[in-house]
Amino acid sequence: MCQQTRVDTAIPYYHRFLERFPTPGDLAEATEDEVLAAWSGLGYYRRARLLHAGVKEVVAQYGGAVPRGAEERRGLPGVGRYTAGALGSIAFDLPEPIVDGNVARVLSRLDRIETPLGRAETERALWTRAEALVAGPRPGDFNQALMELGALVCTPKAPGCGACPWAADCAAHAAGVETSLPVPRPKKKPVPVSLTAVVATRGRGADREVLLERRAQGELFAGLWMVPMVEAGPTQLALGDEAAGSLRDDAQRCAREHGVSGTLEADPRGEVIHVLSHRRYRVRVWRLSAARTRPESPLVPQRLDGLSELGVPRLTHKILSAALPSHES
Ligand code: SF4
Repeated sequence: MCQQTRVDTAIPYYHRFLERFPTPGDLAEATEDEVLAAWSGLGYYRRARLLHAGVKEVVAQYGGAVPRGAEERRGLPGVGRYTAGALGSIAFDLPEPIVDGNVARVLSRLDRIETPLGRAETERALWTRAEALVAGPRPGDFNQALMELGALVCTPKAPGCGACPWAADCAAHAAGVETSLPVPRPKKKPVPVSLTAVVATRGRGADREVLLERRAQGELFAGLWMVPMVEAGPTQLALGDEAAGSLRDDAQRCAREHGVSGTLEADPRGEVIHVLSHRRYRVRVWRLSAARTRPESPLVPQRLDGLSELGVPRLTHKILSAALPSHES
């Protein structure tokens, strides 16, 4: 959970997750929907799917206990060098390195590594140094101390070199260039994507249902429940916001392609902006009531008060909030 997510954000999810799945066996037996529901709101759902796949294998192949052998650990779904090292050193006290963002910052400064993060030579230098350092006693404690040093002392903007046990050996500190290291990896700008979403509802009050589709494997948001969406048509992109007619065409096309009909409102309900690491979505939200589906429609009616039982990403909640003012995202 803490890969790509701040610890204080992850903590409540972590507690709820362990309450819901107290043992590896409970998690292995859960459906993907149940696992994604417990992960909902945390983002980067690939982590949840890989965790689920990894735990299933731990239960099926190793009787529910993570294997001690490095090769077996590295063979589990979703376990790369970082996770294998975290398990090896912290759970089994084996001398295996970990390089996360905090460790990379400390070691880049300690050795004054001036090539950008992410580049092969930088990564090699960091892992080699981490491997040499962890070879001493109590590797699990050492790795955790190194991560904490990065989190609490060798911080990005104002490193506390005066309180650092490595100050005398630190090349960046000696040269006074601490804050210019590490050199960040070149950032890619998120690609703008323009979408049209149709929130199709039926029923009223507490019985109101919304039609959602479960995204297929291999698609973005795989396994998660989304409202029907299409990419904005070329006319809309060319003409901009004034092209109200073409906006409605997109909404009608969206409904048609998803096998749903009903009463489409004359104007969009609003717009949602949602930014992921690689994409910036701009979603026009339309409302369609008294929805009816054709037999081939992939849409499934879901009660609004039952969405917490499903894997529903934040983007879906934002869209529902724009269309249905009573829905809280
Ligand atoms: S001396 Fe300063 S820059 Fe160097 S590792 Fe310690 S806190 Fe980081």
